[in-house]
Amino acid sequence: MKIQARDFRTQFPVEITIQDGKIAEIKEIETADALPFVAPGLFDLQINGYGGTWFSDENLTVDKCLEALQAHYQYGITHLFPTLITNSYEALENGFSIIRQSCEQEDWANKMVLGCHLEGPYIATEDGPRGAHPLEQVRACDWDEVQRLQKASGDRIRLLTLAPESPGAPELIQNCVANGIAISIGHTAANTEQIEAAVAAGATLSTHLGNGAHGTLRRHPNYIWDQLGEPKLTASIIADGQHLPASVVRSFYFAKGKDGIVLTCDASGLAGCPPGVYDYHGAKFEVLESKRVVIAGQSQFLAGSGVQTDVCIATMIEMTGCSLADAWKMATINPARITNVHCAELVVGHPADLVLFDHDSEKVKLDIKQTIAAGEVAFGSF
Ligand SMILES: [Zn+2]
Repeated sequence: MKIQARDFRTQFPVEITIQDGKIAEIKEIETADALPFVAPGLFDLQINGYGGTWFSDENLTVDKCLEALQAHYQYGITHLFPTLITNSYEALENGFSIIRQSCEQEDWANKMVLGCHLEGPYIATEDGPRGAHPLEQVRACDWDEVQRLQKASGDRIRLLTLAPESPGAPELIQNCVANGIAISIGHTAANTEQIEAAVAAGATLSTHLGNGAHGTLRRHPNYIWDQLGEPKLTASIIADGQHLPASVVRSFYFAKGKDGIVLTCDASGLAGCPPGVYDYHGAKFEVLESKRVVIAGQSQFLAGSGVQTDVCIATMIEMTGCSLADAWKMATINPARITNVHCAELVVGHPADLVLFDHDSEKVKLDIKQTIAAGEVAFGSF
């Protein structure tokens, strides 16, 4: 298969030859045709589900899991970490076990799922930092539990979000890092010393910095400054245009630089659902016309995002003026570096995981034309 498109880094037209699922050749060509961009498939560290399916639902099945995963090709996402949030041990074990079985059943799913993200249950109990995580399932750090869940996942847990003030956090962080699980700080009300201790123990990321926080905070010190000003922490941010105002996104970007930001959509299990009110675990959530996913009955408190990583790329460019190539790095190479996995790259010899798209800067969106996963067309036609 041959593809003609504009290289997302240089904007020059190129012809890419795909053979045996890999990129065999990339050569510059001369053409007057209007071509879409080509870039490596996106990689998101934090996706909770899709179309009414949550990866942390105790009723998750292999069929539902595969359906939710496959839906991401239409957004140019070829790699992701299914994310399981605070829940009972039984629900988490079932979720990880179903993800393992899904990956064992379908090779494409195994390639898409570079790892899993366990967000919680060792987080803050306080309203605000805890976000939409259920209070009754928040608990103290438990390495034994992590090991049992890791076994259920088939060694797929590669990222754990915890609060540094959770009892036993420094020891758990050391154990995780020694066993290939990266640690992210999130859903926390930690003080300066607790954040420093977590970083000293091996934490390298902040989960959706600026969200999952108190509505009102002491001016300084506080846990946002403590993480923003810590050079050893990369910051993941939900740049969906809803979770953070532009001035905050710009401040985080200027503080951390293009290598220090990870873009995530943190898509809710309700992403992709039509507007309406939905019941989940006894709580009511609402998908608004704007695709905003909120706790039902109001519009301020968000419950994850209703859009995907492609929107975050366009929003990041709009809000910060960063280049397309730099925004792309924040949704491919940067998350892969933190979690020590191999994502898609537009490099000869690498798997042909590619996305073809137009960038509409006025509408702040990417128009995904086609997604190719391991050399096969997974979405669209071009
Ligand atoms: Zn969260």
